[in-house]
Amino acid sequence: MRPQPSYRGRFAPSPSGHLHFGSLITALASFLDAKKNNGTWLVRIEDIDPPREKIGASEHILKTLEAFGLHWDETVLFQSKQSDYYFQVIKELFKEGHCYYCSCTRKQIKTIGGIYQGHCRSLNIEKSNSAIRVINNHGIYQYHDLIQGNIKCEQALAEEDFIIFRKDGLFAYQLAVVADDIYQNISHVIRGCDLLEPTARQLSFYPLLENIQLNNFQLKNSPPTFGHIPLVVTEQGYKLSKQNKAPAIDNSNPQPALMAALTLLGQQPPKELISENVNEIIKWAINHWQIDMVPKKREIQLT
Ligand SMILES: [Zn+2]
Repeated sequence: MRPQPSYRGRFAPSPSGHLHFGSLITALASFLDAKKNNGTWLVRIEDIDPPREKIGASEHILKTLEAFGLHWDETVLFQSKQSDYYFQVIKELFKEGHCYYCSCTRKQIKTIGGIYQGHCRSLNIEKSNSAIRVINNHGIYQYHDLIQGNIKCEQALAEEDFIIFRKDGLFAYQLAVVADDIYQNISHVIRGCDLLEPTARQLSFYPLLENIQLNNFQLKNSPPTFGHIPLVVTEQGYKLSKQNKAPAIDNSNPQPALMAALTLLGQQPPKELISENVNEIIKWAINHWQIDMVPKKREIQLT
């Protein structure tokens, strides 16, 4: 058997719309870093929020990734198929005394300053109409980022008892993302700087899952290494949208957007590369990928 590659990366879009230029850059950076390190690259569709989902978006995202030469190595994982696993994780967290039901409203939390103070920790609230929060006694608020260096987040926010199951009956992002990064044995996460704060929470979550055993599957896992690429914004500092200057994501003509993405990632592709086919551009990009060249900034402007 071929030895398991030690690098396992992933791109995990939510199907709330088509892939835009901002998410293309994220996909490209995580793909190139995995391939440069002889790693495996996975795609996971984070479809745990049906009200925000757009019909057909998952298929469209996957088609776009293929058109841009970003081919994944294993079956695509859909989070909507992972409910049983998430429920088992929650059940075990209760057994270990790591979580509790909370009936506080957003309004109540807002009146105490917006940071949850553990109000329901010892109230033994019943299940109905409640969220589930973890007891976050050792919140991590500083960590080393592969691209951005040392990151320091707001301590009070990082130490908050965060929600893993929502009042409206949906799994929370933090639970699903950590459970699946463990499930898929992810070693490296390259994503956008909008997730710098959630990363701190996710790092705090790992130790709580350490001793959990599910049907022959030990959740023990060290957290992945994280690297956050700058968010692409317009000259006015706005996030990218269809209306502003973002290069169009055109599956029948991917070269211009690929070249623009490589340039913004600091990779300095030679101009003549644009006349090559997608596979040649991707081959060049893998061979020349240098994560150190990615700008060490939270945001980067389209010019
Ligand atoms: Zn509460």
